[in-house]
Amino acid sequence: MTTRFTGSFTQQEPIPQDAIEAAIRVMRSGRLHRYNVAEGERSQTAALEVEFAAYLGVRYCLAVASGGYALGCALRALGVAPGAPVLTNAFTLAPVPGAIAAIGARPVFVESTESLTIDLAHLEAQAAATGAKVLMLSHMRGHQPDMEAVQRIARDHGLWIIEDCAHTMGGSWGGAPSGTHGTIACFSAQTYKHINSGEGGFLTTNDPELAARAVLLSGSYMLYDRHEAAPEPEVFERLRTEVPNISGRMDNLRAAILRPQLAALPDQVARWAALHDAMEEGLRNTPGLALIARDPKAVRVGSSLQFRLPNWDGAAVRSLVAACKARGVELKWFGDDIARGYTSRYDHWGYAAPPDLPQTDRVLAALIDMRLPLTFSQDDCRVIAEVIREEVMARARRAAAE
Ligand SMILES: *Cc1c(COP(=O)(O)O)cnc(C)c1O
Repeated sequence: MTTRFTGSFTQQEPIPQDAIEAAIRVMRSGRLHRYNVAEGERSQTAALEVEFAAYLGVRYCLAVASGGYALGCALRALGVAPGAPVLTNAFTLAPVPGAIAAIGARPVFVESTESLTIDLAHLEAQAAATGAKVLMLSHMRGHQPDMEAVQRIARDHGLWIIEDCAHTMGGSWGGAPSGTHGTIACFSAQTYKHINSGEGGFLTTNDPELAARAVLLSGSYMLYDRHEAAPEPEVFERLRTEVPNISGRMDNLRAAILRPQLAALPDQVARWAALHDAMEEGLRNTPGLALIARDPKAVRVGSSLQFRLPNWDGAAVRSLVAACKARGVELKWFGDDIARGYTSRYDHWGYAAPPDLPQTDRVLAALIDMRLPLTFSQDDCRVIAEVIREEVMARARRAAAE
């Protein structure tokens, strides 16, 4: 009998009971807007910002409407002008070049390595060729480059680093939380990330002027003194008439849902690590399949798993994805010609006039992606790995026989 997986790759865990109760309290109060507070009350959103800043060990945090909003807000806070080049990973998701395009700036894509991190030699070459002032570094699927090397390149070329930590919330590099190696970091609290308020995001920094600009940009209606993880009012005084309001605030209902989830994040990261380990264990030493190499200084959050099928032709990959799907295992292929679901690729972003990036093309043509929701059990991981292993080996054998 062939093994089949019957679970769901997109089923999240329920919102924890304490978060549901906190949300009900906010709804009973009617004070959902972050600046709508009773006498002496601290808003849920302000409290969440303090907690997130403390969690990361940074001075300033702004909670916003989405991760994509945080990325755009970061670019605006840095004063990136229309038409300016912004370096970013060719291997990332659509909201990253989208945030650059939203301010009229120009995404400049940098090649990806087989470890799914930014290619440092190409980064240097692109920085020199374009004179870009900003690197929007996307830790796509949780894979982080050598951050010391990135910092050195940034220093040499006068680059600000905005870290896109949508997939690394809860992870670290070199013992420091992901999001503390650049000038600004952006996070997402969207349902498919690591804490879930449906939509939501964070912008963090240690720079008081950038933090003040971000708060004003997010739509603070001059109520910036109600922010606690923000700089002193004097910093705002200098900026308040020069920074436009581009509303993208978080609200108290989402903040209430997120606070207990943030407290539970370290436990969730440990659970993800156990699932990711079980899955990698089941796939290790499968002929025709390569796991992704990991920098020992990086601590990844295992909310998804990637592997490579080096030198497979497209028809074989397509047949593998179909065969796994028929057995209940949902794999995504980044080499597909058309954008499906979450697997759009740099050359699908026509507005950004993507160049040819042959190295990234080779990496993506071999790349398979899979979600690992926390509703999976260790047993689920074993079953899923067994299905993939059997289907990969059947095809690798056939290819060898040809
Ligand atoms: C989800 C995501 C974002 C932005 O998040 P939203 O909250 O959906 O706007 C940014 N970068 C990457 C890599 C993402 O996957």
